[in-house]
Amino acid sequence: MSTAAVLDTACIFCKIIKGEIPSFKLIETKHSFSFLDIQPTADAHVLVIPKHHSAKMHQLPDEYLADILPVAKKLAIALDLTNESPEGVGYNILQNNGRIAHQVVDHVHFHLIPKRDDKTGLIVGWPSVDSDFDKLGKLHKELLAKLEGAK
Ligand code: 5GP
Ligand code: ZN
Repeated sequence: MSTAAVLDTACIFCKIIKGEIPSFKLIETKHSFSFLDIQPTADAHVLVIPKHHSAKMHQLPDEYLADILPVAKKLAIALDLTNESPEGVGYNILQNNGRIAHQVVDHVHFHLIPKRDDKTGLIVGWPSVDSDFDKLGKLHKELLAKLEGAK
C-alpha cells in the first residue's frame, strides 16, 4: 500500500517541491525530487529529498526511502563520479538527523557530495576506539534481543 504524500506549508524543502521556492531541479520521480545544493561543499553538490514531509529518516515511509538511492545512483553517473578505481574521484552520500548530527533543514534529505580532492566535499571526523570484543559481544546480544522483539 502506498502512503499519500504529505507536505508541510512551513517547510523550505516542501516549498521547493511545490515550486514555491525556485531550485536547480535535476531528477524528479513520483516519490523523489533532486536539486543542486545552494551552498555547495563541492561543485555539483546535490540534494535528493522525498516528496513527503518527514523530519528524520525513521519517520519516512519505506516507499519514499526506497526511491531515493536509485535517484542518487543516476545522479552519480550523470555527474561523472563513477570512477571504478579505489583511487581518484569519489563521492559521499550523507544523511543527517537532528541538530547534534548536523541537520539544519528538518525535511529528510540525502546529500550526494562529489569528493575530488582533500579540500572540497565532505571532511569527516571519525573518533574510533580500539576493539573491545567483550563489549561488542554484549551489545550484539542486546541488539539481537531487541530486533527479535521488534519482529
Ligand atoms: P543539513 O545540514 O540539514 O544536512 O543540510 C541542509 C542543506 O540544505 C545545506 O547543504 C544547505 O546548503 C541546503 N539548503 C538549505 N536551504 C536551501 C535552499 O533554499 N535551496 C537549496 N538548493 N539548498 C538549500
Ligand atoms: Zn518538508
